[in-house]
Amino acid sequence: MGDRGHWSRCVLEASAGLGDAEAVLAHELALDNATFRLVAARPAWTRYLLFDLRYTAISDEKRDGVLRLMLNLATGALPDAALERITPWLNDAGADAVPPDDAVLPADWERTRVLDVLRPAVPPRLAAALAPFERGLRRRLARDQDRLHAYHNDLYREAMRRAATATEGDPAHQREQLRIAAIGREYRAKLDDLGHKYALRVTLEWIRTLELVMPVVRLELLVRRRKAERVVWLDWNRLARRPEPPVCEDNVAPERPRLACDDAVHLVSAGGLAACTGCGKAYCRACHRAGCPKCGRV
Ligand SMILES: [Zn+2]
Ligand SMILES: [Zn+2]
Repeated sequence: MGDRGHWSRCVLEASAGLGDAEAVLAHELALDNATFRLVAARPAWTRYLLFDLRYTAISDEKRDGVLRLMLNLATGALPDAALERITPWLNDAGADAVPPDDAVLPADWERTRVLDVLRPAVPPRLAAALAPFERGLRRRLARDQDRLHAYHNDLYREAMRRAATATEGDPAHQREQLRIAAIGREYRAKLDDLGHKYALRVTLEWIRTLELVMPVVRLELLVRRRKAERVVWLDWNRLARRPEPPVCEDNVAPERPRLACDDAVHLVSAGGLAACTGCGKAYCRACHRAGCPKCGRV
């Protein structure tokens, strides 16, 4: 990524302060089973990578659009909500700006590290972007299935009625039996055709990466879960005027709230602490990436 000229850089200035940080933090963090304390809040700078991916969804209709993801290189956060607020500010104005000399910027990430984040981050966000299209598709499919069923049901009933009036062994009776079987075959074949017609194929293509350099307030939090505690850094985006929720350490899921695990205080979405499908024991997917520690089920 970043070759062929599809890379640009933008520096944005903003100076909004924190306000009532702890109240807003409690809401944004949405920690369901842990407490936190704000230890420090310091002015800082960060770099974001904004990835624009064009998606094309083809079924009986076609839909395309651009999915944008924003990755904070200092904290690893993917602040979807902050991205929405910042987008109107992204213009050419920041292209020539430079951050102050004393700004300490986070280093580049290895390409594989970026891809390890994007790979699980894209599918749920793409699904959300395509949800209205998919709902419409399901509605049209259900409508066509209903029509198909009603039509073949009428044919079937008519053939059954005629078969019932003919005596068994009569050629008319046999003819109707063959008709009934043919109607069933045709119905199943037409259902298959509908399945193909409404199958959804989605392709995704990277179109550009924007590097965004911005001032933030770096928040140091102490997150406590039972006897364990851990320091977590989050950025408060000065332009979006909100803190960036911690990334789900299991699979970068956008859903909230976050739950903390007992052993390492990983912050994960609900699925990251779900019960094992094999033995029913709840375990942290970030602690045990290879599978359930009790029964081994992945
Ligand atoms: Zn298990
Ligand atoms: Zn854990």
